[in-house]
Amino acid sequence: MTRDDRHLAPSGRVAYVNGRYVMHRQASVHIEDRGLQFADSVYEVCAVLDGRLIDEAGHSERLGRSLASLDMPMPMGPAALGIVMREMVRRNHLRNGLLYLQVTRGAYRRDHVMPENPKLMLLMTARPTDTAAVERRRSQGIAVVTTPDLRWGRCDIKTTGLLANAMAKTEARRRGAFEAWLVDAESMVTEGSSSNAWIVTDKGVLVTRDLSNAILAGVTRAGVLSALKSESGIELQERAFSVDEAYAAREAFMTSASGGVVPIVSIDQHILGDGKPGPVTRGIHALYSSLATSS
Ligand code: PLP
Repeated sequence: MTRDDRHLAPSGRVAYVNGRYVMHRQASVHIEDRGLQFADSVYEVCAVLDGRLIDEAGHSERLGRSLASLDMPMPMGPAALGIVMREMVRRNHLRNGLLYLQVTRGAYRRDHVMPENPKLMLLMTARPTDTAAVERRRSQGIAVVTTPDLRWGRCDIKTTGLLANAMAKTEARRRGAFEAWLVDAESMVTEGSSSNAWIVTDKGVLVTRDLSNAILAGVTRAGVLSALKSESGIELQERAFSVDEAYAAREAFMTSASGGVVPIVSIDQHILGDGKPGPVTRGIHALYSSLATSS
Protein backbone atom coordinates (compact mmCIF):
# COMPACT_ATOMS: atom_id res chain seq x y z
CA MET A 1 0.00 0.00 0.00
CA THR A 2 1.37 3.41 -0.96
CA ARG A 3 0.80 6.68 0.86
CA ASP A 4 -1.83 7.54 -1.80
CA ASP A 5 -3.84 4.38 -1.13
CA ARG A 6 -4.35 5.06 2.54
CA HIS A 7 -7.72 6.79 2.15
CA LEU A 8 -9.07 3.48 0.81
CA ALA A 9 -8.62 1.70 4.06
CA PRO A 10 -8.20 3.58 7.32
CA SER A 11 -6.47 1.35 9.82
CA GLY A 12 -8.69 -0.76 12.05
CA ARG A 13 -11.31 -1.45 9.39
CA VAL A 14 -12.22 -5.07 8.89
CA ALA A 15 -13.53 -6.70 5.71
CA TYR A 16 -15.06 -10.12 5.15
CA VAL A 17 -13.82 -12.23 2.23
CA ASN A 18 -15.24 -15.71 1.71
CA GLY A 19 -15.42 -16.89 5.29
CA ARG A 20 -12.58 -14.81 6.72
CA TYR A 21 -12.48 -11.51 8.57
CA VAL A 22 -9.36 -9.71 7.37
CA MET A 23 -7.91 -6.23 7.70
CA HIS A 24 -9.55 -4.05 5.04
CA ARG A 25 -6.09 -2.97 3.85
CA GLN A 26 -5.13 -6.55 3.15
CA ALA A 27 -8.44 -7.75 1.69
CA SER A 28 -8.20 -8.78 -1.96
CA VAL A 29 -9.90 -10.83 -4.65
CA HIS A 30 -8.43 -12.85 -7.50
CA ILE A 31 -7.40 -11.04 -10.69
CA GLU A 32 -9.63 -13.45 -12.69
CA ASP A 33 -12.70 -12.87 -10.51
CA ARG A 34 -15.76 -12.64 -12.76
CA GLY A 35 -16.97 -9.64 -10.76
CA LEU A 36 -13.90 -7.77 -12.00
CA GLN A 37 -13.84 -9.26 -15.52
CA PHE A 38 -17.56 -9.13 -16.42
CA ALA A 39 -19.39 -7.36 -13.55
CA ASP A 40 -20.77 -10.89 -13.08
CA SER A 41 -21.76 -10.02 -9.52
CA VAL A 42 -24.52 -8.50 -7.45
CA TYR A 43 -24.46 -6.33 -4.36
CA GLU A 44 -26.42 -4.78 -1.54
CA VAL A 45 -25.92 -1.71 0.63
CA CYS A 46 -27.54 -1.81 4.04
CA ALA A 47 -27.67 1.18 6.37
CA VAL A 48 -26.61 0.90 10.00
CA LEU A 49 -28.21 3.36 12.41
CA ASP A 50 -27.31 3.38 16.07
CA GLY A 51 -25.51 0.09 15.53
CA ARG A 52 -28.59 -1.63 14.03
CA LEU A 53 -29.13 -2.92 10.52
CA ILE A 54 -32.00 -1.15 8.75
CA ASP A 55 -34.35 -3.19 6.51
CA GLU A 56 -32.15 -6.30 6.81
CA ALA A 57 -34.91 -8.63 5.59
CA GLY A 58 -35.61 -6.47 2.52
CA HIS A 59 -31.93 -6.41 1.53
CA SER A 60 -31.51 -10.12 2.08
CA GLU A 61 -34.62 -10.88 -0.01
CA ARG A 62 -33.51 -8.62 -2.85
CA LEU A 63 -30.05 -10.18 -2.81
CA GLY A 64 -31.74 -13.55 -3.25
CA ARG A 65 -33.82 -12.18 -6.16
CA SER A 66 -30.79 -10.62 -7.89
CA LEU A 67 -28.83 -13.87 -7.54
CA ALA A 68 -31.75 -16.00 -8.75
CA SER A 69 -32.16 -13.75 -11.83
CA LEU A 70 -28.54 -14.54 -12.73
CA ASP A 71 -28.81 -18.20 -11.87
CA MET A 72 -26.61 -18.00 -8.79
CA PRO A 73 -27.56 -19.52 -5.42
CA MET A 74 -27.40 -17.60 -2.12
CA PRO A 75 -23.82 -18.03 -0.79
CA MET A 76 -25.35 -18.80 2.63
CA GLY A 77 -28.83 -18.75 4.16
CA PRO A 78 -30.38 -15.47 5.35
CA ALA A 79 -29.82 -16.30 9.03
CA ALA A 80 -26.09 -17.01 8.53
CA LEU A 81 -25.82 -13.90 6.36
CA GLY A 82 -27.39 -11.86 9.15
CA ILE A 83 -24.81 -13.21 11.61
CA VAL A 84 -21.91 -12.18 9.35
CA MET A 85 -23.47 -8.75 8.78
CA ARG A 86 -23.85 -8.16 12.52
CA GLU A 87 -20.33 -9.41 13.14
CA MET A 88 -19.07 -6.88 10.59
CA VAL A 89 -20.95 -4.12 12.42
CA ARG A 90 -19.40 -5.27 15.69
CA ARG A 91 -15.84 -5.70 14.45
CA ASN A 92 -15.91 -2.30 12.73
CA HIS A 93 -17.46 -0.55 15.78
CA LEU A 94 -20.03 0.83 13.36
CA ARG A 95 -22.67 3.12 14.92
CA ASN A 96 -23.89 4.94 11.82
CA GLY A 97 -22.68 3.73 8.48
CA LEU A 98 -23.11 1.44 5.53
CA LEU A 99 -22.52 -2.24 5.12
CA TYR A 100 -21.62 -3.26 1.56
CA LEU A 101 -22.10 -6.88 0.43
CA GLN A 102 -21.07 -8.33 -2.90
CA VAL A 103 -21.45 -11.79 -4.36
CA THR A 104 -19.47 -12.63 -7.49
CA ARG A 105 -19.59 -15.78 -9.59
CA GLY A 106 -16.00 -16.43 -8.51
CA ALA A 107 -12.58 -16.69 -10.18
CA TYR A 108 -12.26 -18.65 -13.42
CA ARG A 109 -10.13 -18.61 -16.55
CA ARG A 110 -11.59 -15.69 -18.50
CA ASP A 111 -14.50 -16.96 -20.61
CA HIS A 112 -17.84 -15.30 -21.33
CA VAL A 113 -19.64 -18.61 -20.77
CA MET A 114 -20.76 -18.82 -17.16
CA PRO A 115 -19.37 -21.77 -15.19
CA GLU A 116 -21.78 -24.37 -13.85
CA ASN A 117 -22.01 -24.78 -10.07
CA PRO A 118 -19.86 -21.69 -9.52
CA LYS A 119 -17.66 -21.24 -6.47
CA LEU A 120 -19.19 -17.95 -5.38
CA MET A 121 -17.21 -15.19 -3.73
CA LEU A 122 -18.92 -13.27 -0.88
CA LEU A 123 -17.33 -10.12 0.39
CA MET A 124 -18.39 -7.37 2.76
CA THR A 125 -17.01 -4.01 3.75
CA ALA A 126 -18.21 -1.44 6.26
CA ARG A 127 -17.74 2.28 6.52
CA PRO A 128 -19.02 5.09 8.72
CA THR A 129 -21.46 7.72 7.39
CA ASP A 130 -20.64 11.41 7.34
CA THR A 131 -23.70 12.19 9.46
CA ALA A 132 -23.15 15.97 9.31
CA ALA A 133 -23.27 15.88 5.49
CA VAL A 134 -26.39 13.67 5.54
CA GLU A 135 -28.13 16.06 7.93
CA ARG A 136 -27.10 19.07 5.84
CA ARG A 137 -28.62 17.50 2.73
CA ARG A 138 -31.75 16.64 4.70
CA SER A 139 -32.22 20.16 6.04
CA GLN A 140 -31.21 22.12 2.92
CA GLY A 141 -32.27 19.73 0.17
CA ILE A 142 -30.21 18.88 -2.90
CA ALA A 143 -30.15 19.70 -6.61
CA VAL A 144 -30.64 17.08 -9.31
CA VAL A 145 -30.02 17.24 -13.05
CA THR A 146 -31.51 14.99 -15.71
CA THR A 147 -29.47 12.90 -18.12
CA PRO A 148 -30.32 10.11 -20.60
CA ASP A 149 -30.72 6.65 -19.07
CA LEU A 150 -27.99 4.67 -20.86
CA ARG A 151 -28.36 1.47 -18.81
CA TRP A 152 -29.20 -2.08 -19.91
CA GLY A 153 -32.61 -3.79 -19.89
CA ARG A 154 -32.44 -5.44 -16.43
CA CYS A 155 -32.12 -2.52 -14.04
CA ASP A 156 -34.22 -4.54 -11.56
CA ILE A 157 -31.14 -6.71 -10.87
CA LYS A 158 -28.72 -5.03 -8.47
CA THR A 159 -25.53 -5.86 -10.36
CA THR A 160 -22.18 -4.16 -9.98
CA GLY A 161 -22.36 -3.20 -13.68
CA LEU A 162 -22.74 0.46 -12.72
CA LEU A 163 -20.74 2.27 -15.39
CA ALA A 164 -23.73 4.19 -16.78
CA ASN A 165 -24.81 5.07 -13.23
CA ALA A 166 -21.29 6.26 -12.37
CA MET A 167 -21.15 8.36 -15.56
CA ALA A 168 -24.50 9.95 -14.72
CA LYS A 169 -23.56 10.76 -11.12
CA THR A 170 -20.21 12.19 -12.24
CA GLU A 171 -22.00 14.39 -14.78
CA ALA A 172 -24.35 15.56 -12.02
CA ARG A 173 -21.43 16.57 -9.80
CA ARG A 174 -19.80 18.39 -12.73
CA ARG A 175 -23.04 20.30 -13.23
CA GLY A 176 -23.17 21.25 -9.56
CA ALA A 177 -25.87 18.76 -8.54
CA PHE A 178 -25.85 15.93 -6.01
CA GLU A 179 -27.83 13.34 -7.99
CA ALA A 180 -28.71 12.58 -11.62
CA TRP A 181 -32.24 11.59 -12.62
CA LEU A 182 -32.15 9.19 -15.54
CA VAL A 183 -34.57 9.81 -18.40
CA ASP A 184 -35.84 7.17 -20.84
CA ALA A 185 -36.51 7.51 -24.57
CA GLU A 186 -40.06 8.79 -23.85
CA SER A 187 -38.75 11.65 -21.67
CA MET A 188 -39.97 9.87 -18.54
CA VAL A 189 -37.83 9.72 -15.41
CA THR A 190 -36.81 6.18 -14.50
CA GLU A 191 -34.90 6.72 -11.24
CA GLY A 192 -31.75 8.33 -9.83
CA SER A 193 -28.24 7.04 -10.53
CA SER A 194 -28.26 5.46 -7.06
CA SER A 195 -31.73 6.22 -5.69
CA ASN A 196 -35.44 6.06 -6.49
CA ALA A 197 -37.18 9.23 -7.67
CA TRP A 198 -40.37 10.74 -6.23
CA ILE A 199 -42.38 13.91 -6.89
CA VAL A 200 -45.35 15.62 -5.27
CA THR A 201 -47.29 17.05 -8.21
CA ASP A 202 -48.82 20.51 -8.35
CA LYS A 203 -52.10 18.80 -7.33
CA GLY A 204 -50.43 17.28 -4.24
CA VAL A 205 -50.27 13.70 -5.56
CA LEU A 206 -47.22 11.64 -4.58
CA VAL A 207 -45.80 9.85 -7.65
CA THR A 208 -43.01 7.31 -8.04
CA ARG A 209 -42.29 5.04 -10.99
CA ASP A 210 -43.97 1.62 -10.95
CA LEU A 211 -41.75 -1.44 -10.61
CA SER A 212 -40.45 -3.01 -13.83
CA ASN A 213 -37.15 -3.98 -15.43
CA ALA A 214 -36.51 -0.24 -15.89
CA ILE A 215 -35.78 0.47 -12.23
CA LEU A 216 -34.36 -1.09 -9.10
CA ALA A 217 -36.99 -2.07 -6.54
CA GLY A 218 -35.55 0.08 -3.77
CA VAL A 219 -35.79 -1.35 -0.28
CA THR A 220 -36.23 2.21 1.03
CA ARG A 221 -38.91 2.81 -1.62
CA ALA A 222 -40.77 -0.26 -0.30
CA GLY A 223 -40.30 0.94 3.28
CA VAL A 224 -41.75 4.35 2.43
CA LEU A 225 -44.71 2.77 0.60
CA SER A 226 -45.50 0.51 3.54
CA ALA A 227 -45.12 3.43 6.00
CA LEU A 228 -47.59 5.39 3.87
CA LYS A 229 -50.22 2.64 4.23
CA SER A 230 -50.70 3.83 7.79
CA GLU A 231 -51.06 7.42 6.51
CA SER A 232 -54.32 7.79 4.65
CA GLY A 233 -53.87 11.52 3.94
CA ILE A 234 -51.60 11.28 0.89
CA GLU A 235 -52.80 10.22 -2.57
CA LEU A 236 -50.19 7.95 -4.15
CA GLN A 237 -49.67 6.90 -7.78
CA GLU A 238 -47.06 4.36 -8.89
CA ARG A 239 -46.49 5.40 -12.50
CA ALA A 240 -43.92 7.02 -14.76
CA PHE A 241 -43.72 10.83 -14.67
CA SER A 242 -42.19 13.11 -17.28
CA VAL A 243 -39.35 15.57 -16.90
CA ASP A 244 -41.83 18.43 -17.48
CA GLU A 245 -44.09 17.11 -14.71
CA ALA A 246 -41.06 16.99 -12.43
CA TYR A 247 -40.14 20.62 -13.26
CA ALA A 248 -43.68 21.66 -12.29
CA ALA A 249 -43.73 19.56 -9.10
CA ARG A 250 -44.40 21.12 -5.74
CA GLU A 251 -41.84 18.88 -4.06
CA ALA A 252 -39.49 16.05 -4.95
CA PHE A 253 -37.25 13.67 -3.08
CA MET A 254 -35.07 10.62 -3.56
CA THR A 255 -34.79 7.46 -1.50
CA SER A 256 -31.92 5.05 -0.90
CA ALA A 257 -30.53 2.96 1.90
CA SER A 258 -27.49 5.20 2.10
CA GLY A 259 -29.40 8.49 2.47
CA GLY A 260 -32.96 7.58 3.49
CA VAL A 261 -35.42 10.25 2.29
CA VAL A 262 -33.51 13.21 0.80
CA PRO A 263 -35.41 16.35 -0.27
CA ILE A 264 -34.80 17.78 -3.75
CA VAL A 265 -35.14 21.53 -4.16
CA SER A 266 -34.21 21.97 -7.82
CA ILE A 267 -34.28 19.93 -11.03
CA ASP A 268 -32.14 21.18 -13.94
CA GLN A 269 -32.16 24.52 -12.11
CA HIS A 270 -35.97 24.70 -11.97
CA ILE A 271 -36.62 25.63 -8.35
CA LEU A 272 -39.36 23.54 -6.74
CA GLY A 273 -41.85 25.32 -4.46
CA ASP A 274 -40.07 27.88 -2.32
CA GLY A 275 -36.69 26.21 -2.83
CA LYS A 276 -36.76 24.51 0.57
CA PRO A 277 -37.59 20.93 1.58
CA GLY A 278 -41.39 20.66 1.49
CA PRO A 279 -43.82 19.53 4.19
CA VAL A 280 -44.84 16.26 2.48
CA THR A 281 -41.19 15.22 2.11
CA ARG A 282 -40.39 16.13 5.70
CA GLY A 283 -43.44 14.20 6.90
CA ILE A 284 -42.48 11.12 4.88
CA HIS A 285 -38.92 11.24 6.21
CA ALA A 286 -40.22 11.40 9.80
CA LEU A 287 -42.71 8.58 9.22
CA TYR A 288 -40.22 6.31 7.43
CA SER A 289 -37.36 6.85 9.84
CA SER A 290 -39.51 6.24 12.91
CA LEU A 291 -40.81 2.95 11.45
CA ALA A 292 -37.43 1.84 10.02
CA THR A 293 -35.62 2.27 13.32
CA SER A 294 -38.39 0.78 15.49
CA SER A 295 -38.40 -2.74 13.97
N1 PLP B 1 -31.98 2.78 -7.73
C1 PLP B 1 -30.68 2.56 -7.95
C2 PLP B 1 -30.16 2.56 -9.35
C3 PLP B 1 -29.80 2.35 -6.87
O1 PLP B 1 -28.49 2.12 -7.09
C4 PLP B 1 -30.32 2.40 -5.55
C5 PLP B 1 -29.45 2.17 -4.40
O2 PLP B 1 -28.27 1.99 -4.50
C6 PLP B 1 -31.69 2.64 -5.37
C7 PLP B 1 -32.50 2.80 -6.49
C8 PLP B 1 -32.29 2.68 -4.00
O3 PLP B 1 -32.41 1.39 -3.47
P1 PLP B 1 -32.35 1.13 -1.92
O4 PLP B 1 -33.43 1.96 -1.31
O5 PLP B 1 -32.61 -0.31 -1.78
O6 PLP B 1 -30.99 1.55 -1.45
